Amino acid sequence: MDMLKIAVYGKGGIGKSTFSSNLSAAFGRAGKKTIQVGCDPKHDSTFTLTGDLIPTVVEVLSAAKFKSDEIERDEIIFPGKYGVDCVEAGGPPAGAGCGGYVVGETVKLLEKFGVYNDYDVMVFDVLGDVVCGGFSAPLQHSEQVIIVATNDFDSIFAANRIATAIGIKQRSGGGTLAGIVANRASNAELVGPYAQRIGSVCLTCIPENDSVRKSRLTAQTVFEQDPSGELGRPWTALAARLLDGVPLVVPTPIPERELFKQLGAD
Ligand code: ADP
Ligand code: MG
Repeated sequence: MDMLKIAVYGKGGIGKSTFSSNLSAAFGRAGKKTIQVGCDPKHDSTFTLTGDLIPTVVEVLSAAKFKSDEIERDEIIFPGKYGVDCVEAGGPPAGAGCGGYVVGETVKLLEKFGVYNDYDVMVFDVLGDVVCGGFSAPLQHSEQVIIVATNDFDSIFAANRIATAIGIKQRSGGGTLAGIVANRASNAELVGPYAQRIGSVCLTCIPENDSVRKSRLTAQTVFEQDPSGELGRPWTALAARLLDGVPLVVPTPIPERELFKQLGAD
């Protein structure tokens, strides 16, 4: 099987890390060797997979006085549950430096360690409020993108910007769109029509669920939180579909003023 490289983008706080870490867990449970790379300065992407906040690439780089040649693979890649390996890019101190630079350096280090050939599945979890500079680097290394949104204006506005970035990066070999996940959503009321309008689909709806929130607080994946597998069902089902292969499209984003007219007045 070719390596499945997925970049998860979406507005801050929308549920990207919750989605990504449970998806990686689902791939691991399906016997796939998986690596998750947290690319958000918040650096808690892999928290439920390792049960801890692992050292970040920027911390390790900083300790090595930014001599990336001196960094070893096991200083930045840590084993997590279900055989999922975990990396956190981290970020500069708030208000100083560029988070995008850190993501760019992380992607380069992973390239140096050859991880792009070592796994069945790679999941990048990336902040998507602004897809500039280094934050767009994972697009270049992914075959496909999943956007996490919900049925509101702000997250769909962010999704539209990500769709624009996908279109631009795709011209130089970047990944294309697998679809949008509606998180904290019992239906696809706004996400579904938006996805269709840009030529894509709503992949699944993940309802608001207090057990999902609690799993984050107890540093557990949804599969440990509910060993019956019921809570993790959306992730198990989506992982299987992604492994089978889903259609990928270059999205046609909506002009921002039109999006305001359609959704901005709710
Ligand atoms: P992001 O990575 O996009 O910043 P997180 O995954 O950290 O967002 O989620 C933000 C918060 O929302 C977390 O406390 C998480 O537990 C909670 N959360 C995410 N998805 C759900 C859900 N479907 N139901 C309940 N709480 C959720
Ligand atoms: Mg996150």
